[in-house]
Amino acid sequence: MTEQTSDDKTSPDYETIIIGAGVGGIYQIKRLTDLGVNATVLEAGEDLGGTWFWNRYPGARFDSESYTYGYSFSKELLDEWHWKERFSGQPENLRYLNYVADKFELRQYMQFNCRVDVMRFDEAANIWRLELNDGRTLTSRVVITALGLLSIPTPPRLPGMDSFEGQAFHTFNWPAEPLDLSDKRVGVIGTGATGIQVIGEIADKVGDLTVFQRRPNWSAPLNNGPISEEEMDDIRSRYDEIFAQCKRSPGGFEHTPDRRGFYNVSRQERLELWDRLYDEPGFGIWLQNFLEIFIDEEPNEEFSEYIAGRMRARVNDPEVAEKLIPKDHGFGYQRVPMETNYLEAFNRENVHLVDISEHPIEEVTAAGIRTTAAEHDLDIIVFATGFDAITGAFDKIEIHGADGAILAEEWKDGPSTYMGSLITGFPNLLMLAGPQSGSASANFPRGIEMGVDFATEVLEHVWETGAERFESTPEADAEWTAHVAEMYQMLLLRKAKGWFTGYNSNVEGHEEGSFRPMVYNGGFPKFQAKLDEVVNNDFKGIVFS
Ligand code: NAP
Repeated sequence: MTEQTSDDKTSPDYETIIIGAGVGGIYQIKRLTDLGVNATVLEAGEDLGGTWFWNRYPGARFDSESYTYGYSFSKELLDEWHWKERFSGQPENLRYLNYVADKFELRQYMQFNCRVDVMRFDEAANIWRLELNDGRTLTSRVVITALGLLSIPTPPRLPGMDSFEGQAFHTFNWPAEPLDLSDKRVGVIGTGATGIQVIGEIADKVGDLTVFQRRPNWSAPLNNGPISEEEMDDIRSRYDEIFAQCKRSPGGFEHTPDRRGFYNVSRQERLELWDRLYDEPGFGIWLQNFLEIFIDEEPNEEFSEYIAGRMRARVNDPEVAEKLIPKDHGFGYQRVPMETNYLEAFNRENVHLVDISEHPIEEVTAAGIRTTAAEHDLDIIVFATGFDAITGAFDKIEIHGADGAILAEEWKDGPSTYMGSLITGFPNLLMLAGPQSGSASANFPRGIEMGVDFATEVLEHVWETGAERFESTPEADAEWTAHVAEMYQMLLLRKAKGWFTGYNSNVEGHEEGSFRPMVYNGGFPKFQAKLDEVVNNDFKGIVFS
């Protein structure tokens, strides 16, 4: 690995620098080093794995079927790896990513504890200069960002956050060393996908659990289970078919919508489908359902009421059940949290639900959390309060493009990109699952393979043509951004208050009412077709010079 640091060389240190050694960075470095490209991965963390390195909270696991999550690029890898659970947990997922990196000897191209603070595009030399936290400056012809969608955790902005005398951390920063929860009084703030996983997992392992819920969330049972050797053999024999199916489905999962049409079947038939899906593993309840549910209010209301009924049946105290059922949005407006024993947790004597929409948190105190109604003494506070999604990781780096453009300023009111991969005014920069990418809203590795393959095709064109600089045109960015915004209008998702629409109450400017077109919702087949259209039309929308 080269580690030159001087600023004034004519040839850059690297042809390509990849930022981030998670699922995307690992596959991208594999593709580039297979092509013999002088490339490196810079990773802020002390090891690889991205999402699966950081999120060590109890209950963290896939909501994608494990065998649809793994990389598809190597038959040998597919034959070797045995997914032990249908929805594999964080420790196993991290082991898998390490196995991949070791098998293909990719660690040699990775540099850890290496945070990029500043990136400047040098227009005279057509290279990027990257300033790192360790004092080095590295140069590269091209930068590929693999920053992750949800890598900037956002704890709440509450008075007294520093005064708490117990342990407090965001789920993203759950301690790596074992944490004894028995006899502890634990408070969890947040009931999104993460909170729902943590709460279901720790309820019977802690002394006392207090859940601080602002808005309830819809959820559905994960119905996880083991995968035997025989089942894994069967899966291996079907991998081609499985991945082909993922490519055909809107979200990159095995599941495809029920095309019979909500209104074309009787209520009885709808109920039969829903009863079946609720008890089946994974996202079927969301993605094998009738499409109308996610487009029209009326079918959505009927289905939401069905789910509410299933929820009531699982919670003993009717008052608690009502508090757990969302009233301000319908089921499946956005990605549905999948749970294991979440609702049953509230039937336990040691679990208490505090409705902070009724009695907001006033402050964090030395002893715990005080709401307008009561003081809750705690030993541990867990912030399951979400992320500054997608653009947050870009905002953390000071990115200077051409003509003095600064990315955080350009994106102040929302991102604008071409295919979620390129940005006008920021030459020689490619994003994996950047904002507005179709790779971002689905079964992540299926999307990331799409993104990496596209980025690699762009670069191969650069190398074939000998171009020194490439970037998308302002027209291409404007058209794509308008298209992304338009796709939201077709879905009830447009009404969601969550990271898909750029909402986050803990980030200035992202509070309620600030809609941002963050992801492409046209579905995988359409996104792939759009990427192919770019490649097959002489990379239309991208200027090479
Ligand atoms: P999230 O969906 O943004 O949920 C954050 C939760 O914290 C919400 O309940 C929110 O309440 C609450 N909250 C935020 N700030 C608060 C504050 N200041 N005071 C009180 N409550 C506050 O975040 P997440 O649960 O981490 O999930 C994010 C995404 O990660 C998911 O959509 C999913 O894509 C992904 N994920 C996937 C898995 C998986 O199974 N593979 C697991 C976990 C996460 P409000 O609704 O009122 O804002």
